[in-house]
Order: sequence, then C-alpha cells, then structure tokens
Amino acid sequence: DMNDSERGAHIRRLDRKHVFTSWAAQDVVEPMPIAGALGSEFWDYDGHTYLDFSSQLVNVNIGYQHPKLVAAIQEQAARLCSVGPNFANDARSEAAALIAAQAPGDLDRVFFTTGGAEANEHALRMARVHTGRHKVLSTYRSYHGSVGNSMVATGEPRRWAAETGVSGHVHFWGPYAYRSPFYSVDAAQECERALDHLANVLMVEGPNQVAAILLETVVGTNGILVPPDGYLAGVRALCDRYGIVLISDEVMAGFGRCGEWFAVDRWGVTPDLITFAKGVNSGYVPLGGVIISERIAASFSTKPYPGGLTYQGHPLACASAVASIKIFQEEKIVEHARWLGTDVIGPELAKIADRHPSVGEVRGLGVFWAVELVKDRATREPLVPFNATGADAKPMADFTAACKERGLWPFVHFNGTHVVPPCTITEIDLRRGLSILDDALTVADGYYTG
Ligand code: PLP
Repeated sequence: DMNDSERGAHIRRLDRKHVFTSWAAQDVVEPMPIAGALGSEFWDYDGHTYLDFSSQLVNVNIGYQHPKLVAAIQEQAARLCSVGPNFANDARSEAAALIAAQAPGDLDRVFFTTGGAEANEHALRMARVHTGRHKVLSTYRSYHGSVGNSMVATGEPRRWAAETGVSGHVHFWGPYAYRSPFYSVDAAQECERALDHLANVLMVEGPNQVAAILLETVVGTNGILVPPDGYLAGVRALCDRYGIVLISDEVMAGFGRCGEWFAVDRWGVTPDLITFAKGVNSGYVPLGGVIISERIAASFSTKPYPGGLTYQGHPLACASAVASIKIFQEEKIVEHARWLGTDVIGPELAKIADRHPSVGEVRGLGVFWAVELVKDRATREPLVPFNATGADAKPMADFTAACKERGLWPFVHFNGTHVVPPCTITEIDLRRGLSILDDALTVADGYYTG
C-alpha cells in the first residue's frame, strides 16, 4: 500500500532511528536506500539509477546479481545453510582448493574468516606464533581493517596467544612517487630509497624482533599506490634475510581488481601469507581468509593453531566463492579487467588529465585507478587538506554531488576519486562513466588556484 517513494522514505526513517552507521556522525549521515541493482548499476526508490564507479566498497568485482552466482547461493541454501568449522564441508573444501590453485608458490592452505579485518588479525597471529616475535611493520597510508581489540578483551585462555597483538606496531613509509617521502625524481629512485628506508627502520627496530611486514600489494583506499617495479621483490629479500613473515594484504587488490588473480602475480613475488576478502565472492555472502604457505602451516602441524571463528568457512559463503571463481574463469573476468585498464581507463584518464588542471596525477592498473586532485600542479597542493572535513572538504563534496547529479556513483577519498567499477563493466558503460567524470571534474577545476 506504499508507493516506491514512500517506501524509500520509510526505510530512511527506520534507518536513522535504529541503524548505527559506520564511520559517521549519526545526526549528519543520510544513507540512500537502495531498491535494487544489476550489473554495474543500482537504483533508489525515487527513480534514480547510478552507474557504480565504486563497486560498493570496492568489493562487487563480479557486478550485481550475477544470475549464476545467485543460483549457486540458492542451491546451497536449499542443501545446507550452516555447518561449523569443526566439521568438513564440500563447499569449503572446494573453495579452499580453488583459491589455493590460483595462489602463487606453495600457498596451499586457507584459513577462512568472515571478512578482511579478521583475515589480517589471523595472519598477524600466525606470523607471531610462527616466528615467536612481537613487532609488526606496516606502512603509513594503509588500511587493514577496523577490529583488533576483541580478542585482547576476551577473558579466558583463548586470548593468550593473541595478547601481544595490541602493542608492537611500527609504521614506515611505502613508495608514493607523486608525493615522495624520499624526494626521489623517478620510479627507480623511489624504489631504491623506499627500500633503504625500510632497511633502516628494520635496523633501528631490531630485525630479529620483527614478526611480520604487512603490506597492501597495491595500496587501495589511500590512493591506489602502485609500487614501482622491484619494490616488492626488495621487501621479499629483506624478509628472507631476517626471517620475517611477508603478509600481502590483497583484500582489495586481489581477485581481478588489478587485472590479476592476485596483485603479487604482476611482480612475480610470493609472500608467506596472503589475506583476501571482497572480490573472492564479491561480498554476496561475507567471506575472507588467509592463504598460508607450507612453511608457516608446518608450524601448526603438531602444535594447535590458537584461533577460530564460529562462522568461518560458512557453506553459503564458500559455495558462492566456488561459483564466483568458476564464473571468473568461464567469463575471463580477470583478463577483461586487465584489458579495461590498459586499453580504456588508462588512455581515457590520460586525456582527462590533459583537459583538467585540477588533475594532478592519474595512476592505477586493471579496474583500480586513482585521479588525484590538486589546487596547483606546480606545488601539488591537494585540492582539500589531508583528512579534511566540513567546509574544508567542500571542493570534494561539490565534485561528488556533481557526479551523483549526472548518474555516476564515485568513490571519493580525501583529495582523490577512484575509478573502481565492477571488473565486469562493459566498455560502453565504462566510457559513459568516464565521460560523466570528465564533465564533473569542471567543478573541481573551479577550485584550482594554480
Ligand atoms: N584490508 C584492505 C586492504 C581493505 O581495503 C579492507 C577494507 O576496505 C580491509 C583490509 C578490511 O576488510 P573488512 O572491511 O572486510 O574487514
């Protein structure tokens, strides 16, 4: 008895009254009710359709409502909806085998979780127990998830092996040529100096104290920072020299996003652990995990691994991962994503950069691109200050609104917008979205002062 528009308003009211929204001031945030989605588009209850250049939180790699993926979940739901991790399950076994088959080197076993943060929690615990060391190194400008205290808050013996998890985190600078922390002049120098810096940090922190280096293979949310050639191999060499576990966080970069199954494949580097989530099944059912090398798995062949989750390896999630990986293979989605990057997004963004003074740099690969906006190309002053909010963030807010008015849903972070549509987006839709972006960037140009 409600029309669509009234239904949308009703959802909005209930949401604001009862849903506590992440990362937001509750009286300010206004989540838009979504009525449905298909392929690369979603729509609201008021007749507005948006082309999704964000893939939600960069996770809907396969696009919305892929019919075969939906059917696989329905079939599994009809068969068996829930089974705990202390039983074996066909969907879980098959998902682990398929993931191991795609993973590099001897990364052959999977510890499933329900998302990316848990995957990193467990990768770090594995590294700490395996090495018997305490410290963890990770980069500034990285994102690895938003839990980390729940285990330490636990009041029983299951906490013991995780108790070291709160302290002992050290940050270092990763490569970022456009805003080089090392004053480098080119990619090769950025690589060399970033590795020197890491070696120095290790020296003063004590390399034999360090359990793990945790690194997004390609930094995602914080700017799509593609490492220069040689960087990952250099980090791998430092880890080998000191017996440090290399954890590649591929929660965002993996499963097609970079035009590879795993982003490390692009540089031929094999980490000790890979963490994944998002693209493994496009979030149709929550799933993440750690892919484990034989060397680290061997640490737990007679000694128990101290950790577990009620819903890990959930049959609905695993059945959807199996279906998703098979669809990726049948439809050559990884290849498509790579091609979109080299033949469409890269060349088109280069033209867009030429047309708009506010575009400081474009960078990326696959369907994983950043457009970094500046006030002045000479000084590279960001279009909005780092971590800006309110009035300071107005130029980016205006740009975002301009995209949405034109039917494009952008991914905006600080002074950048990311081009991160589903890996399955058609060339026509992609070009349509890029031309909307091109148009909306005139709003950003309005704030250019250079
Ligand atoms: N690691 C990376 C690189 C991510 O981008 C994210 C989420 O955006 C996470 C970890 C955390 O994943 P989740 O939100 O599923 O816990």
